[in-house]
Amino acid sequence: MFYIGNHTTSSKGYAAMGRQMVDNGGNTFAFFTRNPRGGRAKAIDPKDVEKFLEIATENQFGKLVAHAPYTLNACAAKENLREFARETMADDLNRLELTPGNYYNFHPGSHVGQGSETGIAKIAEVLNAVLTDAQSTIVLLETMSGKGSEVGATFEEIRSIMDQVEKKDKLGVCLDTCHVWDGGYDIVNDLDGVLAEFDRMIGLENLKAVHLNDSMNGLGSHKDRHAKIGEGEIGLEALVNVIRHPALQSLPFILETPNDDEGWTKEIAMLRQRRQE
Ligand code: FE
Ligand code: FE
Ligand code: ZN
Repeated sequence: MFYIGNHTTSSKGYAAMGRQMVDNGGNTFAFFTRNPRGGRAKAIDPKDVEKFLEIATENQFGKLVAHAPYTLNACAAKENLREFARETMADDLNRLELTPGNYYNFHPGSHVGQGSETGIAKIAEVLNAVLTDAQSTIVLLETMSGKGSEVGATFEEIRSIMDQVEKKDKLGVCLDTCHVWDGGYDIVNDLDGVLAEFDRMIGLENLKAVHLNDSMNGLGSHKDRHAKIGEGEIGLEALVNVIRHPALQSLPFILETPNDDEGWTKEIAMLRQRRQE
């Protein structure tokens, strides 16, 4: 099965997002668990969830990849900001139990001058405070581009965070193709080498989802500007190699490309075609 969909910006509820994705030709999707800039989350309507679960079963959806607000910084210098990260993540994880067994991905954070070692320790501290044995959601660390003081732009840093987290069975990784490329991993000329390095540092069994994006910038640029599939510096052929790679076959692929529904529908159809060839 090929699981592909896009990050939907719809805020009309689960059933609406499910229908939108069926219309786009997708069978998974990503969405912000609340306003991406933070703030209180809308109450979830159990009837809406029920309807969504029907749509998901009917259309053989794969696992969803919920996205935490990108303003959340688990390694902020200020305690009140880290407290906000803990509260938001704990609340999101509670709410996600209404749609059990999916993924919740987040940006590890920016160390804002404290140094990556301190940043890594603080991120692990937040995860140790919010992960519970009871949760069915797996929390995913997203690989970052290294913009500013972002933590998680190298596989070593992702590994260090994982090493300091107690409930390792609740933790995984989401690989963003734009971010790793911008971070300096050459997935165009040496995808096998990059995945071998991922396996050596992190373990491929911990890779749970892929954000499939082209990049507006070059290898190692640390910019994080997504491009449409085939319209950036990574290019179509390299991204087709990603979706066809034997080690990645079963993962959900999420497009975070600058598109509307029409654009995502085209990208999904084209990638479905290319995956099979
Ligand atoms: Fe992200
Ligand atoms: Fe991403
Ligand atoms: Zn990005």
